[in-house]
Amino acid sequence: MTEENGDDLIIRRTSTRVLSPEEDQQEIRSVNILRPKSFADYPGQDHVKANLRVYVEAASKRGKSLDHVILHGPPGLGKTTLAHIIAYELGVPFHSTSGPALDKPGNLAGILVGLQAGSLLFIDEIHRLSIQIEEVLYSAMEDFSIDLIIGQGQTARTVTLPVAPFTLVGATTKLSSLSRPFLSRFGIQEKLEFYEPEALCEIIKRSAHLLSISIEDEGAYNLAKRSRGTPRIANRLLKRVCDFASIHSKESIDQEIVAYALSRLDIDEWGLDRVDRDILSVILEKYSGGPVGIETIAVTLGEERATLEEVYEPFLVHSDLITRTPRGRSLTEKARRILSKGA
Ligand code: ADP
Repeated sequence: MTEENGDDLIIRRTSTRVLSPEEDQQEIRSVNILRPKSFADYPGQDHVKANLRVYVEAASKRGKSLDHVILHGPPGLGKTTLAHIIAYELGVPFHSTSGPALDKPGNLAGILVGLQAGSLLFIDEIHRLSIQIEEVLYSAMEDFSIDLIIGQGQTARTVTLPVAPFTLVGATTKLSSLSRPFLSRFGIQEKLEFYEPEALCEIIKRSAHLLSISIEDEGAYNLAKRSRGTPRIANRLLKRVCDFASIHSKESIDQEIVAYALSRLDIDEWGLDRVDRDILSVILEKYSGGPVGIETIAVTLGEERATLEEVYEPFLVHSDLITRTPRGRSLTEKARRILSKGA
C-alpha cells in the first residue's frame, strides 16, 4: 500500500489477496468448494464463455497479457467466478480487491506497483471507485505507469512509477455508473444474463454432487425454476432444502421436499420471494399499477434504491413482471394475474 505523507511516499504491503494459480485453487477449494475452477466446469453463459475462451487463448499464444475486461450483470451470476477462471486458464496470479475498499489513490498505487507481470487484478463493484482512483487507473491501464502527486502546495511534486503489464478485470452490477472514458479503456466487455432452468439444474446437480447430496431430477429442476435465474441463489436454496431433507430423514432430495422447503422459505411457484411480492403489491395497491418512480417505491418499502435497482428489479423486468419507462415502473398483465392468484 502507498500513502502520501507530507513530502514522503510510504509504500506498505498491498492489501489485495495475492494468489498463485496453485494457491488460487486451494483458496477456491477451502473458501467455496462449489465455485467452478475452469470454463469446462462452468455451466451456462455460453456466449460469454465462448468469447472469453478465444481472448484467453489468443493472449496466451501471443505471450501478452489479456486486454482489460469488464463483466457486468446482476449479483450472483458468476462474475467473480469467471475472473478466477480467467486467471486459472491464463495460469497467472490472481489479486482481488473491491471498489469500496480502494478509498485512497495511494492504496491503489501500492497494489499496482506490487503486481507481477501478467497478473490479473480483479476489482469487484468497480462502479463504486471514486473519480480520483479511476484517474490513477487510466494511465496504469494504458501506459503501465502511474503518476502520483506527493506533498501539498508549493512542495508538491509528481512521481511516475512503473507498473508491470497486467489485466484488470472489473465486475459491476451497474454498468451505467461507469464513466465513458473509463469504460472505453476495457477492450473486452461482457454481459452476464440470467440462467435458463436447464443450466441452473446442471449447476444444482453439480453442487449436490460436490456436497455429497443425492437429488432427484424432478427436485433439481423445480429448484432450478425457482432460483431467480441465479447460481448463488440456487446453491443457497439447495443447502436449505438439504437441511429440511435431513430433519425429515429423507435420503434423497425429491420434488416433495423441495416444494415443502420452498414454501417454508416463502418462495412462491414463480420463484418470487417476499420482497419481490412486496414491490409488486406496492405498485398495484398504492400506485394503481404504476407508473411510479423507483425512489418512491424504495421509500414506501423502506429499502435502499440501489438494492431495488441492482438486486430486485433486473429479475422482475427479466420475468416480464414490471416494465421500466421514463415515467417510472409499471406492472405488466402477467404481474397483475400473479397478484390476483396470490390474494
Ligand atoms: P457474482 O460475482 O456475479 O456476484 P459469483 O461469481 O460470486 O457471482 O457467484 C456466486 C456463486 O454462484 C458462487 O458461489 C459460485 O460458486 C456460483 N456460481 C456462479 N456461476 C456459476 C456457474 N456458471 N456454475 C456453477 N456455479 C456458479
